[in-house]
Amino acid sequence: MTALCLPRVGLDAVMHDLESFGRDGTESIAFGLGRRQDGVATVMSVVLAEEPGITRRFGLLRLSERWMLKLTELCESLEQAVVMQFHSHPEEAWHSDTDDHHLFHAPGIFSVVVPDFAQSAAARDQSAWAVYRCANGGAFEASTPTAVDVTDGDASLIIVSEDGWRHA
Ligand SMILES: [Zn+2]
Repeated sequence: MTALCLPRVGLDAVMHDLESFGRDGTESIAFGLGRRQDGVATVMSVVLAEEPGITRRFGLLRLSERWMLKLTELCESLEQAVVMQFHSHPEEAWHSDTDDHHLFHAPGIFSVVVPDFAQSAAARDQSAWAVYRCANGGAFEASTPTAVDVTDGDASLIIVSEDGWRHA
């Protein structure tokens, strides 16, 4: 059953980000903002992160509190909410304890982990993702890639740093 609609144009931008940082041996992270209606969330904006406010080093991926504050301000300005987050892993796709605790939490949010630093088409393919959904209690539960429906719709691409945001 579809629970989230994600425009392909936004997905392509996310995968390009994960792939290009993965090439340098680091994880990256991106967010989908949108609105929810009748139990189905639609991604309307895709957010990529740039410095200052994001640290990407081998084995370390961190967003600063100020960066997260900017994301919150952006959501308020757009009247959209975070409905999805993506990040890459060096090898296997799964939710680590760190992911469970430090990723953005809100009921209904989908969390996608892309394996192999997104370095191959197979790794970027939806079937290779690990997909989790944040339950009402705030814990991430395993979901399935088929919950995400990739659509032909449009999405804005926005770059966020501690200093603010801009359209790409
Ligand atoms: Zn992770």
